[in-house]
Parts: sequence; C-alpha cells; structure tokens
Amino acid sequence: MKRDLYETLGVAKNADEKELKGAFRKLAMKYHPDKNPGDAAAEKTFKEINEAYETLKDPQKRAAYDRYGHAAFEQGGMGNGFGGGGAGGFSDIFEDIFGEMMGGGRQRRSSGGRERGADLRYNMEISLEEAFSGKTAQIRVPTSITCDVCSGSGAKPGTSPKTCGTCHGSGRVRAAQGFFSIERTCPTCGGRGQTITDPCGKCHGQGRVTEERTLSVNIPAGIEDGTRIRLSGEGEAGLRGGPAGDLYIFLSVRPHEFYQRDGADLYCSVPISMTTAALGGKFDVTTLDGTKSRVTVPEGTQAGKQFRLKGKGMPVLRSAQSGDLYIQIQIETPQKLTKRQRELLQEFEQISSKDNNPESTGFFARMKDFFDTLSD
Ligand SMILES: [Zn+2]
Ligand SMILES: [Zn+2]
Repeated sequence: MKRDLYETLGVAKNADEKELKGAFRKLAMKYHPDKNPGDAAAEKTFKEINEAYETLKDPQKRAAYDRYGHAAFEQGGMGNGFGGGGAGGFSDIFEDIFGEMMGGGRQRRSSGGRERGADLRYNMEISLEEAFSGKTAQIRVPTSITCDVCSGSGAKPGTSPKTCGTCHGSGRVRAAQGFFSIERTCPTCGGRGQTITDPCGKCHGQGRVTEERTLSVNIPAGIEDGTRIRLSGEGEAGLRGGPAGDLYIFLSVRPHEFYQRDGADLYCSVPISMTTAALGGKFDVTTLDGTKSRVTVPEGTQAGKQFRLKGKGMPVLRSAQSGDLYIQIQIETPQKLTKRQRELLQEFEQISSKDNNPESTGFFARMKDFFDTLSD
C-alpha cells in the first residue's frame, strides 16, 4: 500500500507551493543517497519523497490525486510515467539546487582543480598510393602548451601569484542559500585559488600559450579510409598541471582516378576495342606499386569479363598479405565510321553465322517463346 503523498512530505493537505517546496528540500537533503551510502531504506524514502513532490507540485496531478488518490496514476490513468520519478528523474528544483554540489562540482573537486586538456581532431587526406605504401607524415598542430616564460603560473617572472583574498586559496566559496549553503567555484580566481596582479607578458596570465607543433605520424600500409589514429597525450595541455588530452587523426583516402577499392581488393575498368575483344590482344596496366602487369585478352572476350591479378591489390594492414586486382573489361563500340569501314562491317555482318553471335542470334524470338509458353 502506497503512503499518502502529503504524509510522505509531512505537510497538511492544504499546504501551499512554498510549504511543499520547503518540506521537499529538507527531506531530500536528509535522505539523499550520497548522504546515506548503502542505506536501502533511505533510498526508498528518497524515491518516495521525490515522487510525492513531483505529483503535488503539478496542480493538475495534485487535483487528480486529491480526487482519486493513487488510483489516478495507475496504468491507464492520467499520470503516465509518474512511477519512475525517483529513478534519476529528479525534479527541476532538485537539479537547480543540488546540481553544483552533487554533479559537476564534485567531479571538479576530486581532481584537485586540475583539468584534463581537450582532445584535438586533425583531418588528414592521403592518396590511394600513400595508403598502399604507407608513409610517415609530418603534421603541424596548433595546440596550447604550458608557458615557458612563467612555467605555467601566469605571473610575470620575478613576481608570484597571490593567494586569492575571496576564497583564501581553496578555489571554492560557500554561499548560504536558505537553510543550507552551497559551494561554488570562486568567481574571483576562477578556481585557481590564486590571483595574478602582474600577469606574464607572453601568456597574459593564462599559463598556457598556443603554439604550432610538428608531429610525426606513422601511416601504416593498407590503412582504410575513415581510420582514426589516436596519439595519446598529444592533445591540448591540461590546466593547472592536469594531464594533456589526446590527438585524433581522422584519415580519409582520396578516390583514385583508375582504381576502386573494396577492402584489400582493387578494381579497374579497362576499355578495349571491339577488334581486340574479337581477335585477342595484350595490354599493360600500371599497378599501385608503380610496376606494370601484362593482361592477355583471349579471342572472343565478352564485355564484363574479369581478369584477376593475384596479390596486386592493397596490402592487408599489419600482415604480409595483399588483396587482388581485378581488371574488368569494357568493350568500346567504334564510332564515326568511314565509308570503307562501314562497307567492311556490313560485309562482315553478311557472312556472320549463328556461331559468331550465339547470345544475340534469335534472342528476341527465344524471349517471346519463353513468355508464350508461360501463358499457355
Ligand atoms: Zn606565461
Ligand atoms: Zn578565489
């Protein structure tokens, strides 16, 4: 049986908004899980007061509850989603008041005012040839590093930062709000605990300066488009002695004029003349390693025929293997025929037999037969 919501918050049935809010704050402070670690009963109570407040602060829900009791919020009732209120859906006021204390504030304090530097992203584009052979790339990355003039203190050499008069060096200030106090980052020193009267000329008191650094990045042979390379600790310098962030290199491989890639395999479409396709012939392709490979076209080669050049594809990352290169044959139909060429082709057609063109001879007749049979 669920407890009466007014009883849960310890207020009268005619309590106004202010009384509700006050009662909720008081109880939420007392039963908050952070204050009662491992205490299941406190956690349950905490959920109940949270739910009770969620309902009663909403005039519509409160009216429904006054009229129907808990039944108003049962399945099919008006208060959909009501029951889950305590599972992490704290009420707005709770966020407002406790957010700094329980959330972000706690994180910041646990690292002693130090902050990890930001991660940096660097976009790099390479050619398919470079992806094929791998390379060492020199990149210039703008990044903030600790100021060498003031060693990161931000104070002019010969002077030193003074202990902040507002927070007395703690970086945090407490302010009374209602019946409890809230701790905040000190507005005077921004959490450093020190103020600088004579700022360093180079970094203007920041303790960090932005500089371009040159980094060497190893691009392994066979790397794929869309690969992300992480350079640990090469990101932005941390604040107040915090660790540096990471540098991520987002690598893209430019589309190639002749070669399409599918994993470790490469595809290349090669147009040959109608006569080469009919009579046979040879051609050379330049592969990505710069060498030439000879392809022999047998007599009577059809369009779409694929030749495989084994091991002539991309290297497989971190292995001694390579993919294959596929040559796909296109047949170019001759255009802009001269009179003489036309005569020869017409003559050729006249003396052609069914054996010369087994696929095209009678194709439409065969197609018609096929569908006629189906309809019988
Ligand atoms: Zn400086
Ligand atoms: Zn301060």
